[in-house]
Amino acid sequence: MKSSSLVEFVRDVYQSSEFIPLHAPVFDGNEKKYVTETIESTFVSSVGKFVDEFEHQIEAFTGSSRAVATVNGTAALHTALYMAGVERGDLVITQALTFVATCNALYHMGAEPVFVDVSPVSLSLCPKAVEAYLTVHAEVNESGCIHRQTGQNIKAVVPMHTFGHPAELDELLAVCLRWKLVLVEDAAESLGSFYKQQHTGTFGDFGALSFNGNKIITTGGGGIVLCKTQESGQHVKHVTTTAKQPHPYEFYHDEPGFNYRMPNLNAALGCAQMEVIDSYLQQKRHLAGLYENFFADSAYTFVTEPDYAQSNYWLNAVICPDREARDAMLKETNDAGVMTRPIWQLMHRLPMFEHALRGPLTYSEFIEAHLINLPSSPADILRA
Ligand SMILES: *Cc1c(COP(=O)(O)O)cnc(C)c1O
Repeated sequence: MKSSSLVEFVRDVYQSSEFIPLHAPVFDGNEKKYVTETIESTFVSSVGKFVDEFEHQIEAFTGSSRAVATVNGTAALHTALYMAGVERGDLVITQALTFVATCNALYHMGAEPVFVDVSPVSLSLCPKAVEAYLTVHAEVNESGCIHRQTGQNIKAVVPMHTFGHPAELDELLAVCLRWKLVLVEDAAESLGSFYKQQHTGTFGDFGALSFNGNKIITTGGGGIVLCKTQESGQHVKHVTTTAKQPHPYEFYHDEPGFNYRMPNLNAALGCAQMEVIDSYLQQKRHLAGLYENFFADSAYTFVTEPDYAQSNYWLNAVICPDREARDAMLKETNDAGVMTRPIWQLMHRLPMFEHALRGPLTYSEFIEAHLINLPSSPADILRA
């Protein structure tokens, strides 16, 4: 670590003596203009040109066949799991090191999580750990992948690209193919992150993005389901719009639908944000480089993108030498008005998931005890 403290360093970077948040949204484009236009048109709700436009912008940016906008990222995940065929009583493999939304979505499908460790390469679901868990606990027969001890169907694998760092997707896809599992990506944190040039969230049958206020771009609240095919995209649009069959006046709904459409008002904000996302990504990459430099030759390890990936560096993170050093850094920074945070409590420590099946979580527990998230907002000052 260089001579100055982390607090001084962060204040220098942001050239600010005020409170420095972990991740604040920036609105310096067409946000006001588009939102005003929406209000003036009266099309503030679930129909309007900004919803279509926003979906097309995301399709163009991610290369997805079809993107369907939803009210938030959790709703996008819920829909994705429904579409993946996850049913009551099924098991879904995911990481314990994630934000609770991943598990809430599968819980509300009536499914149960199986927690598997994350990889030191990406902090995201580890393909070797998934393979190891399945080898010990599962078998494949004509009805799919079965958990040997419980007899439940294991239906899907849900990696989460932690802090925007892409999981080892080729290897995860190979595991899914071998064990007849559907890949659904929680890409809520990884808009702008690419695995070997392909956008995260487009590898699985479905991927979910989030546009919550603290994400890389925001729509206030919002999400998107990325769909592998046009047909599945059509279906996602249908179920997120109450599964109503088009008719001039009759109400006929052909399956249990959701009311998960993103309002036009929110999509207006999203369209303006997508116009400047490249600049945010550049600023965040520049910031990550500054942190990497700051922590070089110290006992602290700054988390960098895996060598196969280009990360969005949504939330910067550093691994401290021990728990005491972590606690000291958390206290020093927060006392000084520079916001830092420990990672989420691991999912198996929460009351609703404490009885969930799980494999060894050695690296997840290490990260839980050592990692701190650092201020990561984009800022004009960071334009390289
Ligand atoms: C933000 C986030 C979500 C979705 O959150 P919403 O607030 O519902 O948009 C899901 N998973 C992870 C890992 C997230 O960080």
